[in-house]
Amino acid sequence: MIIEVEGVPVDTRHWIGGRRVSSGRTFANFSPIDEAHLGDIEAGGAAEIDAAVAAARAAFPAWAALTPKERGDILRRVADGIEARVEDLARVETRDNGSLLRSHRRGVMPRVAMNFRYFADFAEQLVHLDREIRGLRERITYDPSGVTAVITPWNAPLMLATWRIGPALAAGNTVVVKPPEWAPLTASLLADIAHEAGLPAGVLNVVQGTGAEAGAPLTRHPGINRLSFTGSVPTAGVVASAAAPNIVPLSFELGGKSPLLVLEDADLDLAVDLAVEQFDNAGQVCLGAFRLIVHSSLASSFLDKLVERAGRLVQGDPRDPSTDVSALVSRAHFDRVSGFVSRALASGARAVLGGGPDTSLGGLYFRPTILVDAEPGSEILTEEVFGPVLTMQTFDTEEQGIAMANDTRFGLAATLVTADAARAERVSSRLCAGTVWINCFFVRDLGAPFGGNGRSGIGREGGTWSFDFYCDVKNTVFGKGL
Ligand code: NAD
Repeated sequence: MIIEVEGVPVDTRHWIGGRRVSSGRTFANFSPIDEAHLGDIEAGGAAEIDAAVAAARAAFPAWAALTPKERGDILRRVADGIEARVEDLARVETRDNGSLLRSHRRGVMPRVAMNFRYFADFAEQLVHLDREIRGLRERITYDPSGVTAVITPWNAPLMLATWRIGPALAAGNTVVVKPPEWAPLTASLLADIAHEAGLPAGVLNVVQGTGAEAGAPLTRHPGINRLSFTGSVPTAGVVASAAAPNIVPLSFELGGKSPLLVLEDADLDLAVDLAVEQFDNAGQVCLGAFRLIVHSSLASSFLDKLVERAGRLVQGDPRDPSTDVSALVSRAHFDRVSGFVSRALASGARAVLGGGPDTSLGGLYFRPTILVDAEPGSEILTEEVFGPVLTMQTFDTEEQGIAMANDTRFGLAATLVTADAARAERVSSRLCAGTVWINCFFVRDLGAPFGGNGRSGIGREGGTWSFDFYCDVKNTVFGKGL
């Protein structure tokens, strides 16, 4: 069935083996903007996953046998197709997950195209190293590994999915993707674009559905060779158990509770700018630095400026170019975020900004919130909220600041603000996180490793690290006479 979303036709069926497939069951899809019912989406289960994995396995030998250049040419055409449809993709994604239309137009969708172009180019230049051992030649190659399963969340659905699909396909793998049930639509558009670009049938398959019904059978399927999962820690535990019997290599990009550490020599306005950025995407960002850890000498001026600046953020419909902060993705997620804040307030934290929803806008708009005086070790300081909620703590010595920043089971990112180059080196080297930003935030490079420590994940993706994961890296030793 085709539904129209923001004037764009979207096929609600699965994409398996190069054709549209119905499963006869559906789930309802709602928009965060106004909780409008956007349509009923075909709900996959074990049967559709079996069919998709079989299609991907059948397509694998021919796709893997192409040269990186031949695969790259097709993937660059996919990138062209995405670029030609940035506006459609942006409008549909905004309606579906509630993120800002201007961000989708300017940043996210161009990056989706880049996820194909960059890794297509990269695969062509992957160095197949020749080494020497006891006078013999040994060659290290990056071989395609088979079928890659990709499971992604709703906060940046197409960007996160293609960041895995791009390198997996460039490496010569075929893919089965299970998009998030709260924002499934752009994955269907991607299937259309890839087909039109000439991607052979079965190379990319899309099965929609819930985590329990469609995700779970994919994770335990014996026909997959790699599993890239982006989502929450509790789900990751279930996914790891399901994949374990098949010894499938996992890449996990999970949650975070990252610090913004502001030292006493920091540029105050820069520190405030970086703190305000944490309200982007209504705080539904894995990398967000939601724990503000500020030197006590700056604390009151920092907080005054931050409350003033964040208080001016415009909340509203993400399609309006003047909007800064939109709605939370779903009723269930809204209730979860509200619960965290209510419990924090009940246990002694104070809201110096926000603290609850703005019901004048609709049902799912939680106001930008800044909490102080939270009990050390309390839930609001330790658990991922995934909403527009910042906490502020203060410290007196560098040692205390570092200890507070590292006082988390997560380790996705850390942001440090200091004007002192020596301290920048010293303190950043002690921050426990996959990415550390100093005097900047969210500077991302597809060639750099990305991933988390601790509960924030397993492994790294980006650049060579993506190919280390998606490929079977092989060492071949050539004996005498060769
Ligand atoms: P989630 O774990 O609930 O769901 C993620 C995906 O897993 C969805 O597609 C869901 O359908 C699927 N799923 C659920 N149960 C499953 C099961 N039993 N088996 C297989 N698949 C299953 O997470 P979410 O609420 O969609 O997303 C928010 C989380 O994602 C946050 O924790 C956030 O930090 C994290 N995230 C991490 C990154 C990163 O790169 N580190 C990026 C974005 C989001």
